[in-house]
Amino acid sequence: MSRDIVVRENDVLLVVDIQNDFCPDGALAVPHGDEVVPIVNRLAGRFRHVVLTQDWHPPDHGSFASLHPGRKPFDVIEVAYGPQILWPDHCVQGTVGAEFRADFDVPQAQLIIRKGFRREVDSYSAFRENDHRTPTGLAGYLRERGLTRVFVAGLAFDFCVRYSAEDAYAHGLEVVVIEDACRGIDVDGSVEATRRQLAELDIKVIQSGEVLPK
Ligand SMILES: [Zn+2]
Repeated sequence: MSRDIVVRENDVLLVVDIQNDFCPDGALAVPHGDEVVPIVNRLAGRFRHVVLTQDWHPPDHGSFASLHPGRKPFDVIEVAYGPQILWPDHCVQGTVGAEFRADFDVPQAQLIIRKGFRREVDSYSAFRENDHRTPTGLAGYLRERGLTRVFVAGLAFDFCVRYSAEDAYAHGLEVVVIEDACRGIDVDGSVEATRRQLAELDIKVIQSGEVLPK
């Protein structure tokens, strides 16, 4: 049975965090993260509407292990909104690590959502910060523009892609995750947990070759 999906006028491609720090040699490298770049470049040409996210932290961001004496990256601490994984310093505002990859070539993107700029709250999702309350504004943007189906691609599959997809679903949007256009970090089985959660929510997970231009 064909799982092909033909792109419609009210579809948007949401490309998550294709930044130097999330690619090999970056501060928080996602294994093989660079491999998604040519896939996303091709994919973006099939959409009328493309939105990007950019992880964008102040130098003293609370998710950085370096701010917590005695802690190291990937330790989990309790903060006001629940458990928070500590990360290596990454995607600091204005640094090369926070820039989009040089070979990421999607100049037609219409909006860049920057997230994680509040010192005290991390933000994985393109829609809401990790306190699950503070909106990024993306839901309102999509609503005003009448964009109702969101295709998600980028880094990392098991964090920012996952929570963006879940929040899109929670906002009543139709959601499709393009699996081969994502790569995961896999902290304590987080890739498998992501697959389970997406399946539970009935979020479609497809391959980029199954997304057909109109
Ligand atoms: Zn971050």
